[in-house]
Amino acid sequence: MSSSAAAQKPSPKVGLVSLGCPKALVDSERIITQLKAEGYEISPDYAGADVVVVNTCGFLDSARAESLEAIGEALNENGKVIVTGCLGATPDLILGQYPSVLAVTGPHRYEQVMKAVHEVVPPQHDPFVDLVPAAGVKLTPRHYAYLKISEGCNHRCSFCIIPHLRGDLVSRPIDEVLREAENLVNGGVRELLVISQDTSAYGVDLRHRGAEWRGRERRAHMTDLAAALGELGAWVRLHYVYPYPHVDDVIPLMAAGKVLPYLDIPFQHASPRVLKAMRRPGNQEKVLSRLAAWRRDVPDIAIRSTFIVGFPGETEADFEELLAFLKEARLDRVGCFRYEAVDGAPANDLPDAVPEAVKEERWNRFMAVQQQISMEKLDAKVGRTFDVLVDEIDEEDGVICRSYADAPEIDGNVIIEEPARKLRPGEMVKVKITDAGEYDLWGEMV
Ligand code: SF4
Repeated sequence: MSSSAAAQKPSPKVGLVSLGCPKALVDSERIITQLKAEGYEISPDYAGADVVVVNTCGFLDSARAESLEAIGEALNENGKVIVTGCLGATPDLILGQYPSVLAVTGPHRYEQVMKAVHEVVPPQHDPFVDLVPAAGVKLTPRHYAYLKISEGCNHRCSFCIIPHLRGDLVSRPIDEVLREAENLVNGGVRELLVISQDTSAYGVDLRHRGAEWRGRERRAHMTDLAAALGELGAWVRLHYVYPYPHVDDVIPLMAAGKVLPYLDIPFQHASPRVLKAMRRPGNQEKVLSRLAAWRRDVPDIAIRSTFIVGFPGETEADFEELLAFLKEARLDRVGCFRYEAVDGAPANDLPDAVPEAVKEERWNRFMAVQQQISMEKLDAKVGRTFDVLVDEIDEEDGVICRSYADAPEIDGNVIIEEPARKLRPGEMVKVKITDAGEYDLWGEMV
């Protein structure tokens, strides 16, 4: 099945019954956040759900009885039930009464809940449409979370089918997003990854309607959102930022340490001719001078971008313009895709398709230029000290961490081979960089 055909299948739906205390509610919100980030929909009723998660309470006898009753009801109405929460700490009790329950997990075990959901209704991961990297769908560690702020997109880039599949931009109200972020941080999340198809357009559809949060009015606008998230004390990383002029307004928040000095800003190309055919804004002079201004204010800003080579009509001269831009822009992290026709994308009808062999050759040239830049940029970090977040303890390689410049799954890592003490995932430590590779850095704790 083609990727777009997969995406056109209806999204899998999960029902959620949440009982119990505020802590259980945090778990439920966390589960909902992750489900939505992975492309699941939340079903408001039993009948429409592919599976039902019952988040139980086991504190009082009455709560236990209510939880057991809810499990029974979900089984009757739907049949596919996963149980989590406090009552889940006693699986024998649940399975004794309801042997057909598919999985039982205890409280705060939302990773296991996600695993159980994946087994019943696998996520439909589609690299053309999805915001969370494939590996992130499998298992997002509990110390970072994807915060989805909107759905859909108002742009009409010619290579993209998202507006067709997901419709125009629909932003979530700012207070709802902030409350969810607050709950995530209260639940132990140290890094919030803001995602949407177009983060810089956040709130346009709501006419930036404000709402009160923590005693102050906040507009549904990327700058206000970033500033408010910056108050939570977690790392805030902005993804999929379309290069609008007002992106400049988040730079002071980065300079002030409120938001990570990291921008994921897909430029897609540098030739005005190709950008026009892509229906993207294109003025590379302006882009270069903006990059220079951002770096003047935040010298360490890490910029990630993606590009497409071999777009229909791309000439050798266009491609060389892209390489020249790349050399001048000296971006930190770069992904490059060979253009691929996606079913239903308007770009499929464009003339002058680039032959596969030429795409491949250009991709290789592009990657060679960027690899050199990435290596030089990583080399320049040797001897410096950074805060890093511990992601994983690997028996063989050491402690796998990330700095502000590394988004999970898509960027590199900072590796501590011999930690001075036992570290745990989610811990923040200072590391002095001792060595650099093509993508990763190595360092020691200070
Ligand atoms: S901005 Fe992104 S999601 Fe929107 S149409 Fe362009 S590529 Fe697609």
